[in-house]
Amino acid sequence: MPEDPVKELRELVDSLSDWLRYQRRLGWRGVPRPVKAQIADRKEPADKILSLEEIRAEMGDCRRCKLYGGRTRLVFGDGAANARLMFVGEAPGAEEDKQGVPFVGASGQLLNKMLTNLGLRREEVYIANILKSRPPGNRDPEADEIAACMPFLDKQIKAIRPRVIVTLGRISTQALLGTKTPLTRLRGQWQRYRDIRVMPTFHPSYLLRAPQERHKTWADMQQVMEYLTDHEET
Ligand code: URA
Repeated sequence: MPEDPVKELRELVDSLSDWLRYQRRLGWRGVPRPVKAQIADRKEPADKILSLEEIRAEMGDCRRCKLYGGRTRLVFGDGAANARLMFVGEAPGAEEDKQGVPFVGASGQLLNKMLTNLGLRREEVYIANILKSRPPGNRDPEADEIAACMPFLDKQIKAIRPRVIVTLGRISTQALLGTKTPLTRLRGQWQRYRDIRVMPTFHPSYLLRAPQERHKTWADMQQVMEYLTDHEET
């Protein structure tokens, strides 16, 4: 037992303070936390940008909405990971569900034709849908299905960072823009999703039924192509 424990403790504290002052002068800023605690604390930042492969892996055999039971294949997306132009449709149809690739049925044939006429190859754009699973009988997507699937489209958009997104049809336009405004009022007018330009236009399946309207989508796409040409460097 020390003779004067209080004196001894005071001396200990003084020499510890001297040592800490000295360390601080050397640039030391604190005691590192144990590595284990640091690892336990490490969280993915909410806005971390994942690659398309990582997003696909995160979806896995997705069961986040009721559509999983009826699908054959999840239709994630197709095209260039660094595309400057991205198309967003509604949901897979029968053929897309079978092949696991978006826009490969009749609407896809028309979309392909449109791309060719614009001088674009399908491999240089990116094509995705609001929903990754086919709704039964091609019915309209329901609000809970859109809510479950949208976060993945959002991540895809962040990964690709396209200069322009073309939304195809009412459902994808309203879902992406978070609006109930009718497509007829939005079509052909630049909109925004985050900091990305969005051009809403008709869905190819509508244009198959109403070929007399095709010139409007053609005009919308001319605006898109002009913008992309004027901003070639970006
Ligand atoms: N219609 C869509 O909206 N998406 C597809 O992938 C196919 C048809």
